[in-house]
Amino acid sequence: MATQKQKKKQKNNIVLPAAILTTFGLAAILTVLVADHTPRSNISENSADVIEELPEITTEVTVTTAETSETTAEVTTEPAPLPPGSVTGLTLSFYETALKVGDTPVMPLVTMTPEDAVDKSEKWETTDPAVATVDGIGWITAVGAGSCIVRVTSVNNPAVFAEVKVSVADPNGSAQAKRKPAETKPADTAPAETTANAAAAGTVAGMEVKDGITYIQGVMIVNKTYSLPASYNPQGLLPEAQAAFAEMQAGAKADGYTLTSASDFRSYETQETLYNNYVARDGKEKADTFSARAGHSEHQTGLTIDVNYAGDEFNSTPEAKWLADNCWKYGFIIRYPQGKEAATGFKYESWHIRYVGKELAQKITESGLCLEEYFGIDSKYAE
Ligand SMILES: [Zn+2]
Repeated sequence: MATQKQKKKQKNNIVLPAAILTTFGLAAILTVLVADHTPRSNISENSADVIEELPEITTEVTVTTAETSETTAEVTTEPAPLPPGSVTGLTLSFYETALKVGDTPVMPLVTMTPEDAVDKSEKWETTDPAVATVDGIGWITAVGAGSCIVRVTSVNNPAVFAEVKVSVADPNGSAQAKRKPAETKPADTAPAETTANAAAAGTVAGMEVKDGITYIQGVMIVNKTYSLPASYNPQGLLPEAQAAFAEMQAGAKADGYTLTSASDFRSYETQETLYNNYVARDGKEKADTFSARAGHSEHQTGLTIDVNYAGDEFNSTPEAKWLADNCWKYGFIIRYPQGKEAATGFKYESWHIRYVGKELAQKITESGLCLEEYFGIDSKYAE
């Protein structure tokens, strides 16, 4: 019979919901034993309770049912070999994410090892669907303020799993106030970016850098060359952009069009998650054509809005045409125009508008130039 101490050790090595164990029965329990996969953290007090009720386990392969506690009394730490092709490890592209209700869902990339594992299917669960839900392939959607754990488990080997710590802020509350200090980006990312911005400042007329933020003629500049520090966080659209958008919505409505904001402000942290997901899905080279790296997204300025729908399907809509023809009247420019990809560094986005003020919006629009061409700056990542 295992001593109390042995049982305790056993418990700490196995943290699995009862559902998985009952679903996979004996096979699951045997594989639990053989994989020495230490969980990142215990999921909750409840999971410990679940373990409490598990039968004693052994690597003795003559065990016939999971419920046969008599034959499982002898606990051994000797791992039995896994069947060939079994999943033995699992990593994620990120283990923590901070979201707001209404944010685009995020999905960590799962890498299972070995590469030639026979069955790499995943099982996704959330500890609190009132905070965040997760679908069958790992898209995590913020539902309500709070925090929870999203876990992915190897179906082939349920002893192998990983967890994402999800914190969700209420968009109507103060996201900043709810964010724990540990989750804000370390300040050490700022000096490097600041230095890069400052270096560029000497070469462009009218450019100045204040608190790591680059301005030309008072206009905040964010692209692949010029970044914002992680600490810059207006927590939403700036009032002037908000007011201008409301005015434009009214103008569009008078013409029979409905404009809404599909996405506007995104924090450094949110952009980081978003970009990392795209890299995981499409690779870095492709992701860089349509998603900005953290600090390089105009959405962090609080002056940018994706109108109605952020996708190519929007390009051919009457609303897109109205926006292109009229947004300058309200102080916005189409930030990444068609044919300007080399200058802006981003593909054509008919939906992505940037507030620059009515006077400058009119000048830029009449010039036929994009923002980079207008100011004579480039948009290229340093590496
Ligand atoms: Zn956008």
